[in-house]
Amino acid sequence: MNEIKRELLYKGKAKDVYKTDNDDEVLIKFRDDITALDGGKKDTLSKKGAYNALISSKLFSVLEDNGVDTQFLNLVNVDEMLTKSLDMIPLEVICRNIAAGSLLKKYPFEKNQELVPPIIQFDYKNDEFHDPMLNDSIIIALGIATQDDLDNIRTITLKINEVLSNFLKERGLLLVDFKLEFGFDKDSNIVLGDEISPDTTRLWDADTLDNFDKDIYRKGEDGVVDAYKKVVNIVLTSEEKDKWNVDNI
Ligand code: 5GP
Repeated sequence: MNEIKRELLYKGKAKDVYKTDNDDEVLIKFRDDITALDGGKKDTLSKKGAYNALISSKLFSVLEDNGVDTQFLNLVNVDEMLTKSLDMIPLEVICRNIAAGSLLKKYPFEKNQELVPPIIQFDYKNDEFHDPMLNDSIIIALGIATQDDLDNIRTITLKINEVLSNFLKERGLLLVDFKLEFGFDKDSNIVLGDEISPDTTRLWDADTLDNFDKDIYRKGEDGVVDAYKKVVNIVLTSEEKDKWNVDNI
């Protein structure tokens, strides 16, 4: 266990953020808590935190290797990520390659319709208002971000989509859609933060279209943690699996 001095700064629905003795860095602990349906469904599922931390760390490393700036510095324990401290922008940036989820409930898309070019959508990260969808004018009027920031976020999101879609496709998974969160670093650069895991993405088997993501839990089906474990086994190398002793988490 790698011990870093810590003080709780923020407790989210599935992660805790701790101050460290370095003001430029925060420690993010991935808890085993899972929520869905606007907080209406909650559970604690053993090992989920570790699996999400492993998957997020791997995907952030892949993005860094492809020139995308992320908050990720190091996985210090199996469920704890050391990260750059960011001033987070309260937007959920959603990118969609295939029509699924809320898109089908709100608009007349066909189920599994391919979306070319991908749809990018901004939701307000605000529980009181239930994360409403925003447009550029509302974001600017609320003072959340500037037009330049939004243009920049769209460009980075498309790059992330390209890199991760290719990485996952090579491993037999379809990146159907995902949610990103960005923040400003100390030099005011826009940097990818938070997590990219089966909690925040839809991942389907490329052949069977089976889910490997939180939709299993949303639908009330069993096996969500087993599906996350499969994603760990798909994305990590054998060396990475040995290092984190994945079979014995
Ligand atoms: P939908 O709008 O279809 O519910 O979600 C689209 C994608 O964004 C899904 O991959 C979903 O997991 C992710 N997403 C959207 N909103 C949230 C949210 O509030 N929390 C999390 N963890 N993921 C979200």
